[in-house]
Amino acid sequence: MSDELTYDLVVLGGGTGGYAAALRAAELDMKVALIERDKVGGTCLHRGCVPTKALLHAAEVADTAKNSETFGIEAEFKGIDIAKVLEYKDGVITRNYKGLQGLVKARGIDTYFGTGKLVGKDTVEVTGEDGNHTVKGANVLLSTGSTSKTIGLEVTDRVITSTEALQLDKVPSSAIVLGGGVIGVEFASVWNSFGADVTIVEGLKHLVANEDETISKNLERAFKKRKIKFKLGVMFKGVEETADGVKVTLEDGSTLEAEYLLVAVGRGPVTEGFGFEEQGIPMDRGFVLANERLHTGVGNIYACGDIVPGLQLAHRAFGQGIFVAEEIAGLNPAPVVESGIPRVTYCEPEIFSVGLSSAQADEKYGKDQVESLEYNLGGNGKSVILGTTGLIKVIREKDGPVVGVHGIGARLSEQAGEAQLIVNWEAFPEEVAQLIHAHPTQNEALGEAHLALAGKPLHFHS
Ligand SMILES: Cc1cc2nc3c(=O)[nH]c(=O)nc-3n(C[C@H](O)[C@H](O)[C@H](O)COP(=O)(O)OP(=O)(O)OC[C@H]3O[C@@H](n4cnc5c(N)ncnc54)[C@H](O)[C@@H]3O)c2cc1C
Repeated sequence: MSDELTYDLVVLGGGTGGYAAALRAAELDMKVALIERDKVGGTCLHRGCVPTKALLHAAEVADTAKNSETFGIEAEFKGIDIAKVLEYKDGVITRNYKGLQGLVKARGIDTYFGTGKLVGKDTVEVTGEDGNHTVKGANVLLSTGSTSKTIGLEVTDRVITSTEALQLDKVPSSAIVLGGGVIGVEFASVWNSFGADVTIVEGLKHLVANEDETISKNLERAFKKRKIKFKLGVMFKGVEETADGVKVTLEDGSTLEAEYLLVAVGRGPVTEGFGFEEQGIPMDRGFVLANERLHTGVGNIYACGDIVPGLQLAHRAFGQGIFVAEEIAGLNPAPVVESGIPRVTYCEPEIFSVGLSSAQADEKYGKDQVESLEYNLGGNGKSVILGTTGLIKVIREKDGPVVGVHGIGARLSEQAGEAQLIVNWEAFPEEVAQLIHAHPTQNEALGEAHLALAGKPLHFHS
């Protein structure tokens, strides 16, 4: 049976981007339909950011227990009870999920559970277990998200993606991680802390190759120390399953064996079969092309999140979703600027960055017009207390504003906040240097790096 319902905004895909748009539109008094074929919250909440960060926290607890003697604490690390780790992780998801469901309900959003297909410029047909619906909207937002790329490999008990890795009910004795990007290094970090023998295979020259080279090299040193192995600049050729695991062959002829192969080679858009092309939505290799104001150029159809080319990050999707709701409401919001979005990798040590790397700044301004400074965390009291090493790197245009801030070290993800204000407000190092940073915090390292770049170093060994 099909009924026809009309809304101000129809959101196709209830993940990070979609639900953010729905919540904001409802706040702005719009009548909103949210169509979701699985669970509202999408990748980030159910199989992405939240569960991985819960595992990384459990990994940090394991490392703390193992290293307790360093701090004079007599604790004993007995091992990993993976069932309890999974219970903790799932508990975190459930709590957040309940909160989100409450928000969606409280804002009066109509949720349709089923697969939506765009059948007109203002119409989505929903096929679901509880019946079919035709949902019409004065505006439509496409936010169907992304899924792991598998480069043609079949997912099995042994060859897995991040989705299966998050459900694994045992700690692998050994694992090969294909891909040294964000997801790859995060899982390598967790499994190493849990006791697995991990080898990362990366085709590019460095781990986290999108980061400033200084940060990549620093991570490689830290991983070496942690006995996480990696092979860089070598391409994957194939995998075969053995009696007790996998055998991976690389293009250089070498082979690696392990219990599992985690395929972490990036994520592709989920857009096939949803009627986008038929309705004339501009597409490129499965991605939806939208302009700066996230409009597709077709009817009143917008797109946001991982299906729009760019950084595949939850906070970008949140920002874009909010933007679309405000745009439709006529509030003329400022577009989300890709270059100002903070990026964080939550492995141990953590990495954050905002703005340009040295290579990008050199290319944009010319090498002689760029200045940078690396502040070693050895000069930061709180980092010494925590026993972490690492650095903060600040890049400025000569006599101009800060254009990039990068950091690596335990717990440094939290520094992305101030760093993004500095870069996005185009602050000069001299201005940041005037601001007082609380002592002893790791945040102080950010302040000290700017003091040094402004020519008045304090706890800084050159
Ligand atoms: C392992 C992992 C770790 C990550 N960690 C981080 C992190 O720490 N920080 C960070 O910022 N980002 C992280 N990300 C990325 C983040 O999860 C994504 O950028 C974010 O979820 C994108 O939001 P989205 O709304 O575009 O898509 P999604 O969250 O994928 O949501 C899309 C939704 O649409 C639904 N859907 C799809 N097609 C249809 C249809 N036809 N009908 C109805 N419903 C449909 C799906 O079921 C899904 O719920 C991580 C991702 C992974 C995989």
